[in-house]
Amino acid sequence: MNKQLIIKELEKIVREGHILINEPLKNHTYTMLGGEADFFVMPTTVEEVQAVIRYANQSAVPFTLLGNGSNVIVRDGGIRGIVMSLKQFKDIYSEGNKVIAGSGARIIDASRFALDQSLSGLEFACGIPGTVGGALYMNAGAYGGEIKDCLESALIVDAAGDLYRLPAESFDLSYRTSNIPTKNYIVLEATFCLKQANYDEIKAVMDDLTYKRESKQPLEYPSCGSVFKRPPGYFAGKLIQDSELQGKGIGGAEVSMKHAGFIVNKHNATATEYIAVIEMVQREVKNKFGVELEREVRILGED
Ligand code: FAD
Repeated sequence: MNKQLIIKELEKIVREGHILINEPLKNHTYTMLGGEADFFVMPTTVEEVQAVIRYANQSAVPFTLLGNGSNVIVRDGGIRGIVMSLKQFKDIYSEGNKVIAGSGARIIDASRFALDQSLSGLEFACGIPGTVGGALYMNAGAYGGEIKDCLESALIVDAAGDLYRLPAESFDLSYRTSNIPTKNYIVLEATFCLKQANYDEIKAVMDDLTYKRESKQPLEYPSCGSVFKRPPGYFAGKLIQDSELQGKGIGGAEVSMKHAGFIVNKHNATATEYIAVIEMVQREVKNKFGVELEREVRILGED
């Protein structure tokens, strides 16, 4: 990989100041872990996104998309090639009872925007720290609601760099999954279909969910939220709690005392330590209860 050549080509595509070289990814992940991205690219237009994808394809430069980094762990060796952030795509607006949000907008902000318009349907997302794009990718959900319930359509760029608007059904949204990873879609914008409702009632629901979240989750430490999916017939947190793993850790990473489903970066952990705690939890729960805990969080990059 000829780094200088890649930089030169990327500079032709995205505007000045929107390519960071050897960018530490701990600045872009909720766990505050991870090595560097060779090229951290922040396009500002659809055409720039398309051109970056086409360039990465043609020149076989590895390509990774990052949202708010709240559901990924980046390994200590970082990520080779291009890491694209869509944080510039952050506009949120409404048309009647629809809220339209750029993929880089925080889903929390889309939820607050809906409240301001007295639109109900995105209350569940008021504390999910990801972007709109990241929320679609994994059909984010909480407290009985999920993206699938209110998504109408999304604007996407496919692996070849072509632009489409697709209806919600085309994403096969189900419990914490979609077909976005297999299709390699890049979400640029989402349209949510909501219902007019009473402002105070929407706000009361959001206040209650915020209280629940703040009282139960260790939000004072960096983490990636719930590390594991809910195994059929069980709760991951309860299995971890009953395996007496809370407070146990490796290096600076440990299973949260406040919420057993969370692993926190308590004292300047490395990604290697954090991942070792994940594997320890999977092993112990399997030994004790015979249940395989499947990770919800994605691990990216190299050691
Ligand atoms: P990232 O973590 O950056 O990326 C995750 C994946 O999404 C990556 O593979 C990335 O390539 C892909 N992706 C990102 N943007 C796009 C895009 N525009 N197009 C296509 N793919 C994209 N999740 C819940 O569901 N419910 C919760 O209640 C919840 N609570 C959390 C609490 C805390 C404290 C934390 C840290 C996390 C929590 N999460 C929760 C997890 C996380 O916030 C969600 O999974 C969120 O949807 C991830 O979005 P992101 O932008 O951070 O994505």
